[in-house]
Amino acid sequence: MQIIRTLDELNENLKSVWENDNELLAYVPTMGALHSGHISLVKKAQEIAQKTLVSIFVNPLQFSLTEDFSSYPRTYEEDIVKLLAAGADFLYYPDFDQAYIESIKKVKASEELSASLCGASRPGHFDGVCSIVNHFFELIKPDFAVFGEKDYQQLKILEDMLLCQQSIIELVPGKIFREESGLAMSSRNNYLSEEEKLLAANIYKLLSEEKKKLEDSTLEPISEMIDSALINIKEKLLEFGFDVDYVDFKWSRIFVAVKVGSTRLIDNIEIIF
Ligand code: AMP
Repeated sequence: MQIIRTLDELNENLKSVWENDNELLAYVPTMGALHSGHISLVKKAQEIAQKTLVSIFVNPLQFSLTEDFSSYPRTYEEDIVKLLAAGADFLYYPDFDQAYIESIKKVKASEELSASLCGASRPGHFDGVCSIVNHFFELIKPDFAVFGEKDYQQLKILEDMLLCQQSIIELVPGKIFREESGLAMSSRNNYLSEEEKLLAANIYKLLSEEKKKLEDSTLEPISEMIDSALINIKEKLLEFGFDVDYVDFKWSRIFVAVKVGSTRLIDNIEIIF
């Protein structure tokens, strides 16, 4: 695996891939602290393209002043071992400084798509995501970009960004990878104690229970069933002691965001009618 730090190195390494029509490039952007969810995206990238590039960059633009940018887990040495084992071709680990980040072109997320869910509780977050992802896309010029459904709203917003730009980059979604307990894998799970992880596993349990009820139900109207599922989930999350940010339904999915202590966790589940 080629480890790339600078723009010159990036151009040198990717030149032959860009010039070879038989070599497609799939890109997996991450903020590091890699877990099996990230690695599942690398595997997906390998299925669809001859070359895979993973980036690790903790993007300051997507954190508000009160969020965990400085304490965000950084496990670079372990990340390299995992990427080597997965067989990624390139790791881009840039050392952008503050001035460079401030100089990149700012791209605004769709107001409509970022008005609800995480966009409502994290103002500016998706603008920060769009700006940095757009910048990486411009530098890396991939054929495919693989994003996890764990951050489903992010995926929809980036899909919209590419559509508006008439980009030729194809966005490829990857399923949510979970712990055996059902807890969606997340770099932020590193903040949780074992006890908190057990508690957090109830998020998926509740989502799965309501999914089953909704999918098995023959009652109409479905919108009332969904409303009552959302109320049920919220009540039970509160009973478990979670600080609930939202429980919502969109894109045929139920979305949940909670805090366990100061750790924010998100999850979602598809409902197939
Ligand atoms: P992050 O490092 O948290 O910015 O995530 C980088 C990419 O990994 C994003 O596309 C996420 O949606 C994806 N991702 C994070 N957690 C998971 C998971 N548990 N399963 C699948 N993809 C994930």
